[in-house]
Amino acid sequence: MKASSETLVLAPEPLEGVIAYREAFDRLRGNMLHIGATDAAQRRRKLQHLLEVLLEERPAIVEALRADLGKSAAETELSEILPVTSEIRLVMKRLRGWMAGSEMPTPLSLLGHHSGVIPQPKGVVLIIAPWNFPVNLNLIPLVSAVAAGNAVVMKPSEHAPHAAAVLARIVARAFPPDEVVLFQGGVEVSEALLDLPFHHIFFTGSPAIGKVIMAKASQHLASVTLELGGKSPAIVDASADIRLAARRIAWGKFLNSGQICIAPDYVLVEESRKEAFLAAIAEAVRDMYGEDPSVSADYGRIVNQRHFRRLEQRLAEARTAGASFPVGGQSDAGTLYVAPTVLTGLSPDSPLLEEEIFGPILPVIGWKDREDALRFIHDRPKPLALYLFTTDRSSRRHFIGQTRSGGVAVNTTLVHFFNNELPFGGDNHSGIGKAHGYYGFLAFSNERAVIRQRFRWAAADIITPPYTPFVERMAKIMSRFL
Ligand code: NAD
Repeated sequence: MKASSETLVLAPEPLEGVIAYREAFDRLRGNMLHIGATDAAQRRRKLQHLLEVLLEERPAIVEALRADLGKSAAETELSEILPVTSEIRLVMKRLRGWMAGSEMPTPLSLLGHHSGVIPQPKGVVLIIAPWNFPVNLNLIPLVSAVAAGNAVVMKPSEHAPHAAAVLARIVARAFPPDEVVLFQGGVEVSEALLDLPFHHIFFTGSPAIGKVIMAKASQHLASVTLELGGKSPAIVDASADIRLAARRIAWGKFLNSGQICIAPDYVLVEESRKEAFLAAIAEAVRDMYGEDPSVSADYGRIVNQRHFRRLEQRLAEARTAGASFPVGGQSDAGTLYVAPTVLTGLSPDSPLLEEEIFGPILPVIGWKDREDALRFIHDRPKPLALYLFTTDRSSRRHFIGQTRSGGVAVNTTLVHFFNNELPFGGDNHSGIGKAHGYYGFLAFSNERAVIRQRFRWAAADIITPPYTPFVERMAKIMSRFL
């Protein structure tokens, strides 16, 4: 059962206050060139050590997530520990190649030069994370930042305090304080940290706070990666396997009680299959969580009273507006329980169809013409994920070609997050920049262009002042032919 996060006292911090943040920052900055000079073998050893500490702390992580989010051990294993261990393993395997950089072609006009790109660490970076997957959303960026050779400050969410305390211990055990530092605390800690001249800020959270972060980053021209959220649609067309679609959408939506940035936010189903889809999703919810999900050990809880009240209000508004509830609709403030809920009959301007839901409520909307479905998506900001259920190739091409989102998954949900060979991130409103694997490594690197003249003679040496008629003619010839 979930403990009330509001009553918890945060673990004692090693350093407190603005002066402490500045001291930590200066210490990291003083060490950043040293950290950046490490080779692949040294960085791999750091990551191996982090992996060992993480695995030792596994029981504590499971307990922390049960306390913060009512998560089952299996869900914690699948959605929090596995993504980090697989990220560390992938990075350890590939790091040497990534760090080697790449040779680039040189145009004829620069004959004699050698061109290449070497990734170098950004320097001192800040990672700010949310509460919904507090372990993986803190540690995956940390792995990328360390792999790229940075010094790191981390600020986990105050709304998952048990997880933040375990993370603080993991970081303190795995890294010396002149390489990685973690500060627990709320918005005031983030705000104070954002005043410091970090070289890169990696933020995961809501689009609204993403704008605050970007504005703050502009003070120091820090680069940013913004991993945000939004309304990720699931489109189901008449050719889809409806039972399979319903099952996979139910899994993606009700895992972590819908508190997932890439959860299907709403479903657009071809009208002729709407009733079949509603029946199939009711069956899928029963299969996964039983007749009464409130007693299922596998169904989570809402993180805190504030989010619970927000969701309860949305349910009440939908009821008043005459929506129908083929599945769920129940809630209980005492245990922060909101049932897996499917509803229909909302008007397009209802808050449930305007704001990111971030909870276990799934509106289902019918469409007759696929252009109507596309219009519905384009009337909203670009989503983080788009799910498409179809067995028709031309439909798949059409929907993928005519929409924009951070990622797309066809006939499945959520799993693109788990393939760390793929870039993970949004597009504009749902995010800026990418994470995971090579893309995470690049996010924390400056891709530095290096060009080297190998010979004493170079064509460019001719085009120097004074610009005599001969030089002008040479310049014309070069621009025409090279
Ligand atoms: P949030 O934006 O409220 O908070 C995220 C972090 O920012 C927390 O650590 C918080 O302390 C800090 N913060 C909050 N207000 C701040 C301010 N004014 N100035 C500086 N820092 C501030 O998000 P949340 O409620 O923790 O998480 C839910 C949101 O995160 C959803 O929108 C979800 O879609 C998104 N999300 C995105 C991803 C992704 O990978 N793209 C993953 C998980 C969650």
